Amino acid sequence: MDSRLYTLHADITTLAVDAIVNAANQSLLGGGGVDGAIHRAAGPELLAACRRLGGCETGDAKITPGFRLPARYVIHTVGPVWHGGTHGEPELLASCYRRSLEIAAGEGLASIAFPCISTGVYGYPLELAATVAVDTVSDFVAAPSSIAEVIFACFSAGDLALYQRLLEARSG
Ligand code: ADP
Repeated sequence: MDSRLYTLHADITTLAVDAIVNAANQSLLGGGGVDGAIHRAAGPELLAACRRLGGCETGDAKITPGFRLPARYVIHTVGPVWHGGTHGEPELLASCYRRSLEIAAGEGLASIAFPCISTGVYGYPLELAATVAVDTVSDFVAAPSSIAEVIFACFSAGDLALYQRLLEARSG
């Protein structure tokens, strides 16, 4: 396993990393799930900053400060809604991870934590999504950049077990 990639059973809003990634919607104006949790923890300044971003396309990402979060920045990305897997979902999900890492590296950040993008209300099957996540992040960190640590923040024990299995399968 690449020592820069690991997984944690955690509420992503508690992590003191350079950036946490938000699984947002195209409006960037808040929602449920991890998006709601991040906005509650960051405070109303986050919504005000998001209003100035003018939304975000699926597969793209935009950065704001973290405000009251322990994380310095929030990178907001918009995952695809699962429509069976033949509507570009894998490419769009990979793009979320890649664009988030590109933005983090562009800011010279070292540590970043991702939630399981699209696997909540957007319905992306967890194992397929986790495979895209691990593959895309592994490809990115194979090239030199400021990124030293990537955390897959799992909200459930089941998600954690799956990520542990995928990351261990890459070791050795
Ligand atoms: P999406 O709309 O992209 O599917 P959701 O927020 O519904 O996003 O779910 C994405 C993932 O985030 C799910 O695995 C969900 O369990 C997880 N999640 C929800 N709250 C948190 C949190 N506070 N920290 C980390 N992960 C969370």
